[in-house]
Amino acid sequence: MLETYFADMHIHIGRDIFDKPVKITGAKTLTVTNILKESSRNKGINMIGIIDCQSPNVQLEIKQLIEKKQACELPDGGIRFEEVTLILGSEIEVYDNACQGPIHVLCYFPTLENLELFSAWLTGRMKNITLSTQRYYGTAKELQYKVKELAGIFIPAHVFTPFKSLYGKGVKSSLTEVFDPDLIDGIELGLSADMGMADQIEELHRYTYLTNSDAHSLPKIAREYQEMVLEQPSFKEFQWALHHIDGRSIMKNYGMNPQLGKYYTTVCDDCSLPLTPKLDQCPSCHSNKVIKGVYDRIQELKSGAGSLNERPTYLYQVPLEYLPGLGPKTHEKLLNKFGTEMFVLHHASYEALLSVVGEKLATLICKMREGEIKIKAGGGGKYGSLLPEE
Ligand SMILES: [Zn+2]
Ligand SMILES: [Zn+2]
Repeated sequence: MLETYFADMHIHIGRDIFDKPVKITGAKTLTVTNILKESSRNKGINMIGIIDCQSPNVQLEIKQLIEKKQACELPDGGIRFEEVTLILGSEIEVYDNACQGPIHVLCYFPTLENLELFSAWLTGRMKNITLSTQRYYGTAKELQYKVKELAGIFIPAHVFTPFKSLYGKGVKSSLTEVFDPDLIDGIELGLSADMGMADQIEELHRYTYLTNSDAHSLPKIAREYQEMVLEQPSFKEFQWALHHIDGRSIMKNYGMNPQLGKYYTTVCDDCSLPLTPKLDQCPSCHSNKVIKGVYDRIQELKSGAGSLNERPTYLYQVPLEYLPGLGPKTHEKLLNKFGTEMFVLHHASYEALLSVVGEKLATLICKMREGEIKIKAGGGGKYGSLLPEE
């Protein structure tokens, strides 16, 4: 029977089982075990992708959970832990002769066995596979062929961020400059873009879009996510949802308003003044360091609005921790009462919320569900913020 499940497919690891860094800028508490517990018990997310799993020490921690019978491998691929399914993934930096700049991609594998084969293959093509999102030495297409040979899923990551992405610096105008378009399973939008912006680009119309958190700390898990229609959360079902097989699909994308992302507007890197895209020098401080925002980059790439498949609903989500007046204490009260963040965000009634947080916050949470919160746009690496209510 098909049901709906929440999924966040891009989460990093801060420290491995020996307390060694994986994502160096990631939080120390961001370990495999903590991510699984947080996702299952507090976030209420049903499927997660951890994308630093190429690291052998990360694999070791997963294997130990399986040995201790706290987790198990699913027949359809993926690892089950309590209420959450972990999909084994790896984020990789591609920078071959065909690219203009580095591109991040996400690769997912059904089993630990295939993941280990991938790690063995990567070892000769990467300086240090124990670290997160390292540069891979080889062509993007070779990587795609390897992922497909190992029955994996291939998804370009946060495709519009100004640095390290497909359309940021990676290609001049088309993904075909670098990738085999038939070996792409989906497109991750990233925090500064939404569905409507991405659909301005014709070559993306055929792909399913993902909205993921790219979390570098536990609280950031599920700041973006999607609701999928699946028989159960597993690798196979994830793949079927990406390709609309037998009723599986992504039903809703919960993305942050792109204006809340770090790279929405074009700004001067030195004085943060918002600029029009035509300027290559800041009129205020005369710096030449202009960081082109995602919005302006899409205007350059624009090639025709629309899409081949019917798109899911795209809802603007504001993470709970962004809401004014919602500090750690209130957050704890909400979880004590409702169990998980997903329940607070989607199911708790206004009256029930009112009994825990008071009128202002209860109203704000309900307004957010309708996408009615006003935003001050971010840019140049600074996040946007909520405008105070009048
Ligand atoms: Zn990345
Ligand atoms: Zn990432």
